[in-house]
Amino acid sequence: MTTISPEDINKLLPQTQCRLCTYNGCLPYAEAIANQGEQTHLCQPGGIEVYTKIQATIHKPKSNIAIEHIKTYDSKPHIVSINLDECIGCTKCLPACPVDAISGAPKATHHIIEHACTGCDLCIPTCPVDCITIKPSNQLPERNFLLTQYQKKEAREADKIAQKKEKLDTVINKLSNNSNDIIAQALERARKKRLQHE
Ligand code: SF4
Ligand code: SF4
Ligand code: SF4
Repeated sequence: MTTISPEDINKLLPQTQCRLCTYNGCLPYAEAIANQGEQTHLCQPGGIEVYTKIQATIHKPKSNIAIEHIKTYDSKPHIVSINLDECIGCTKCLPACPVDAISGAPKATHHIIEHACTGCDLCIPTCPVDCITIKPSNQLPERNFLLTQYQKKEAREADKIAQKKEKLDTVINKLSNNSNDIIAQALERARKKRLQHE
C-alpha cells in the first residue's frame, strides 16, 4: 500500500476518461492505485510511459511482467461524428460522454463538439440508429482541458443526484405526514365511537 495521494497519480494519467483500465475514469483508477494497491499498468492510452511514471511516483521499480501485460493501444487518434440526417435526437449518447463533447436536446439533432472529443468511442454503442462514426483527427484535446470537462460533468451529475434525493425525501416526508394524519383521524373516530357506546 502506498501513501501517495490519488491526485498525484491522477496528474500522470492522460484524462481521456476512456475506461479501458476498467475504472470509471482516470481519477477512480488513480484512487484504486493509491488506496487499494491496484496494479499500475492498466492505462492503455498511457502505455509504458505512464506506467513508468506511476512506478517512479510510488517509488517502486518497473516490472517486465507488468510491461508485458500492458495491452497494445493501437487505436489511431480520432474523434467521432454524428450523421445529422440519421440522428433521431434520442439523447442516449449524452450521458455516455465523460467529457461533455456532445451537445443536443430531446428530439433535436445532436452534434459533436470536436475540440472536446477524445475518440474514446464510449458514445458509439449507445446510439440506437448507429449514426455515430469515427473520423481521423490529429488534434486531440489537451489533458488539463479534459480534466476540467470531466470535473464539470461529474459535478453536474452529483447535483442531479442530490436534487433527486431531495425530491424523494420531500415525497417520503409528505407520505409519512399524511399517513400519520390518517392514523390520527382513525384513532379519533375510534375514540368517538367508544364514547358513544359508554
Ligand atoms: S486514460 Fe487511462 S486511466 Fe484514464 S480512463 Fe482511460 S485507461 Fe483509465
Ligand atoms: S463524443 Fe464520444 S468519442 Fe468523443 S469523447 Fe465523447 S464519448 Fe468519447
Ligand atoms: S444516440 Fe444517436 S440518435 Fe440518439 S441523439 Fe445520440 S447520435 Fe442522435
